[in-house]
Amino acid sequence: MTRLDDLAANLATVRESIAAACAAAGRSPGEVTLVAVTKTFPASDVRLLAELGVRDIGENRDQEARTKAADCEDLDLDWHFVGQLQTNKARSVARYATVVHSVDRPELAAALAKAAANAGRELRCLVQVSLDAEPGRGGVRPDDVLSLADEIARADGLELGGVMAVAPLGEDPEEAFERLAKVAATLRTAHPAATWVSAGMSDDLAAAITHGATHVRIGRRLLGQRPLLR
Ligand SMILES: *Cc1c(COP(=O)(O)O)cnc(C)c1O
Repeated sequence: MTRLDDLAANLATVRESIAAACAAAGRSPGEVTLVAVTKTFPASDVRLLAELGVRDIGENRDQEARTKAADCEDLDLDWHFVGQLQTNKARSVARYATVVHSVDRPELAAALAKAAANAGRELRCLVQVSLDAEPGRGGVRPDDVLSLADEIARADGLELGGVMAVAPLGEDPEEAFERLAKVAATLRTAHPAATWVSAGMSDDLAAAITHGATHVRIGRRLLGQRPLLR
């Protein structure tokens, strides 16, 4: 098996899982975008995934993402930044990313807005929602989503896309994603165009799709086990 065969087989399995979850939820698979999270894997894998029809690539560290995006510039892919982001990396991220899934504070939104305007680009931003009882792994509390969303919507250079979340460790993802769906619905009443719900990773993509995910972020099930825990 070549790496291309491996990736093709994994991609087929993931697409089947997405289709099955959509069917069970009475949704169309066309409503769910697969974001391939390629962190720790080389640009050559991104290239192979692009060959297999994947257009949306997720990364969680600026330095790694920036290099890979430059290596793959000819492919015209959409780069999704999904990791915690320091304000001083905003300038770099705004140059290659199409979407930032992890906007979790006003200072970051402001830095991204300035950087996007400087780069002459429009950045789509999702508000990362913390579904943990104890904050700590990033994200704003559900009660604070609307005010951050308002700031993003007001900012030149940014476009409010919706919400993103990671299921808390040790909790039933169904319950967590059900809470996220409520947050997303509340956001849509204030911002009808903010329709994206980025939720679901390798182990909980079906639960996320049941509760309305429009974007699933899949790493290991597509690319294999990562060499480092991250
Ligand atoms: C790594 C990562 C993923 C992908 O996780 P897998 O379990 O490998 O599918 C998704 N979202 C974020 C924010 C990540 O950091």
